[in-house]
Amino acid sequence: MGDGVTHQDNVSADIMDRLDRMAEISESKKHLTRRCFTPQHRQVITLVSGWMRDAGMKVWEDATGNLMGRYEGTDDKAPAILLGSHLDSVVKAGKYDGPLGILAAIDCVKALNIRNARLKNPIEVACFTDEEGVRFQSTYLGSRGIAGTFDFNLLNRADKDDITLAEAMTDFGLDTDRIGEAARQKGDFLCYLEVHIEQGPVLESEDLAVCAVTAIAGADRMTVTATGKAGHAGTVPMGARQDALAAAAECVLTVEEVAAAHPYAVGTVGQIEAEHGATNVIPGKVVFSVDFRAADDAVRREAVNDLTKRFEDIANRRNVDIVLEQSHSADGVTSAPWIVDAIEDAMTDLGHRPFKLPSGAGHDAAALAEITDVGMIFVRCKDGISHNPDESITREDAIAGAELLLRTVERIGGLET
Ligand SMILES: [Zn+2]
Repeated sequence: MGDGVTHQDNVSADIMDRLDRMAEISESKKHLTRRCFTPQHRQVITLVSGWMRDAGMKVWEDATGNLMGRYEGTDDKAPAILLGSHLDSVVKAGKYDGPLGILAAIDCVKALNIRNARLKNPIEVACFTDEEGVRFQSTYLGSRGIAGTFDFNLLNRADKDDITLAEAMTDFGLDTDRIGEAARQKGDFLCYLEVHIEQGPVLESEDLAVCAVTAIAGADRMTVTATGKAGHAGTVPMGARQDALAAAAECVLTVEEVAAAHPYAVGTVGQIEAEHGATNVIPGKVVFSVDFRAADDAVRREAVNDLTKRFEDIANRRNVDIVLEQSHSADGVTSAPWIVDAIEDAMTDLGHRPFKLPSGAGHDAAALAEITDVGMIFVRCKDGISHNPDESITREDAIAGAELLLRTVERIGGLET
């Protein structure tokens, strides 16, 4: 330790090589794409299960295709500390979203195994089948299998090649009649912990490698239709117009304003289209999306109410119809305060300044919160970029994330070091 090389530096010495090796397993030669139940999913399971066995775990695959590992504790009746992340990626993904959390979890077990140390609680590692939901537009397929909330309606949903989820699972060697067997009971786990890249710029600006996550933001998504009156751009005087796009433009700025006025809230209009748009036509109908998220559900509801009222004002003032249609609404999930405390204490142990942040992006922890307390650790990523080949982290930060996970697990599992 005196030469500045920590135990974790040795344990996680090859973490970047392993991240690279996982990233090589891709459906495309040009970029990283690894969707669930593909041959590449099978290949990555083979690779990672070898590392899990080497780390000292018993390994199996559950009924929804999650790769699972278990390292026994001293009390086999004690609930397990569940660690993990996801094996799937988005299309044209980065290397770290998902795999970093899996390798940090494996290294946590490896570090204990090398020292021949056992916690009171067993540790389980879950490598989730499908978090991004790219192939079947699903949400948390694997972790919902474990939480017992698998959506069976999805089985008939087809991917872009007309293969249904049921067919894909069968081809993968799974029995869809047995999906329910993946479900675990409420008492099985003490908690779920995940290391994940931040996917935002805050840690970089705070000059911190890692932090605790306080909550996963709830989200509302809406499709908004503004209907005015189409007309000739040259003949209708300004005072007589019912311009749907000008009204929508005001709405877009209002989304920005309302989000900025609420703590830890973010609002985005990512899609907008003027129907039959043309240079010389006053737009008669415009459809746009609104994505609104906040760490606190009450804040989000209040903000969305505020937004709705202000859209009404815009509609009245401009003599345009504005109709909001909600396409998605999910409450946020709060990290268990005792886990946030344990992570922050572990940060202090390791010489990091304690810091915590809510997550604006969704994670498997949201599904697992149904059956156990959850917590997450964020690792700094370059420029906050994710879901992109430019996703980047440093070796030091990857190791800091793995080390913080281990220290947190030791604290939770009652191991004094
Ligand atoms: Zn992820």
